[in-house]
Amino acid sequence: MKTLEWRALFGQGAERIQASTIRELLKLTQRPGIISFAGGLPAPELFPKAEAAEKAAEILKEKGEVALQYGPTEGYLPLRAFVAEWLGVEVEEVLITTGSQQALDLLGKVFLDEGAPVLLEAPSYLGAIQAFRAYGPRFLTVPTGEEGPDLEALAEVLKEGPRFLYLIPSFQNPSGGLMPLWARERLLEMVMEKGLLVVEDDAYRELYFGESRVKSLFELAREAGYPGVIYLSSFSKILAPGLRVAFAVAHPEALLKLTQAKQGVDLHTPVLNQILVLELLKEGLLEHLSRVRRVYRDKAQAMLEALEKEMPKEVAFTRPKGGMFVWMELPQGLSAEALFHKALEEKVAFVPGGPFFALGGGENTLRLSYATMDQAAIAEGVRRLGKALRALLTP
Ligand code: PMP
Repeated sequence: MKTLEWRALFGQGAERIQASTIRELLKLTQRPGIISFAGGLPAPELFPKAEAAEKAAEILKEKGEVALQYGPTEGYLPLRAFVAEWLGVEVEEVLITTGSQQALDLLGKVFLDEGAPVLLEAPSYLGAIQAFRAYGPRFLTVPTGEEGPDLEALAEVLKEGPRFLYLIPSFQNPSGGLMPLWARERLLEMVMEKGLLVVEDDAYRELYFGESRVKSLFELAREAGYPGVIYLSSFSKILAPGLRVAFAVAHPEALLKLTQAKQGVDLHTPVLNQILVLELLKEGLLEHLSRVRRVYRDKAQAMLEALEKEMPKEVAFTRPKGGMFVWMELPQGLSAEALFHKALEEKVAFVPGGPFFALGGGENTLRLSYATMDQAAIAEGVRRLGKALRALLTP
């Protein structure tokens, strides 16, 4: 067979698209018998399977000609209206996207260029780093922790005039951090003074364990009459990620550009999935959300209890107030990747933290997800992790 010189055919952008090291590691975690705290997948027992089956059949029967037809790029109007009412915004400000992941790519298309500065937390969501990297920007980072970004460091980096700040203020992926209200207000002051754009990724907005949500940057900016926050959230973590239905809320001028960018990507998000999400939301959303929160809170608690019991004192870990992740720091000099391989021998897996740092570092950090395992598996997995750690600490 004739061979082709593929590399010579690729465009310049292809160079920036690289295999993620985490994907390679995740493959190892799927071996049988492994208790995996690695993936960021939602708990499958929470998927509304029976309701979805029933509703999907109904939609196809009664609205098949809409559900199976092309739809508007902005999204299925009744779903946009539902989201608008839920968030207290105008319908014209809502764009339905094919997962929030698509919104991240669209933001890259619309706002980034080769060498353009963009500010991320260190660590930050790997999928965002990957999406933005395709546009060749210059990453600026600010250290982030249990209470969100270090605001003093942020004040310094803002001087570089980033195109936008990409932030995950609630139950950050991967750190699990939650920015308190005062920090959100302080951050907004800095941003508004400089007239900068913020992209707020609120994928985990509903997964809080306390009494209520902390107000979003978007809401606070609205109250202050500031239009420079683009808000992203998704139905992935509260309904089902496989449906790929999410939304972006932005000032109409920004939204129009994002919509035009989306046209060239996929014309629109699958209509059947959008109607299905809407029908599922109409049915007992609040009750469903409180169940989702309870399940994650109980899993988090199981993991924390096990960690308190099993972890050597040299190891620090966060106590999440919501979301799906515990973030762990090993003593300096100890490599999370070395622990990863030791842990695999004990049949437990996690994600080393290094790849979440856009500019490198974090080799002694790691992320544990408690979302997919049941409580017994969580306790057993943490016991195995403790064993692997002790073996590494006392050679
Ligand atoms: N943002 C964050 C912070 C995430 O953790 C994820 C998924 N893990 C996404 C965006 C993408 O979500 P989706 O595309 O499923 O809406």
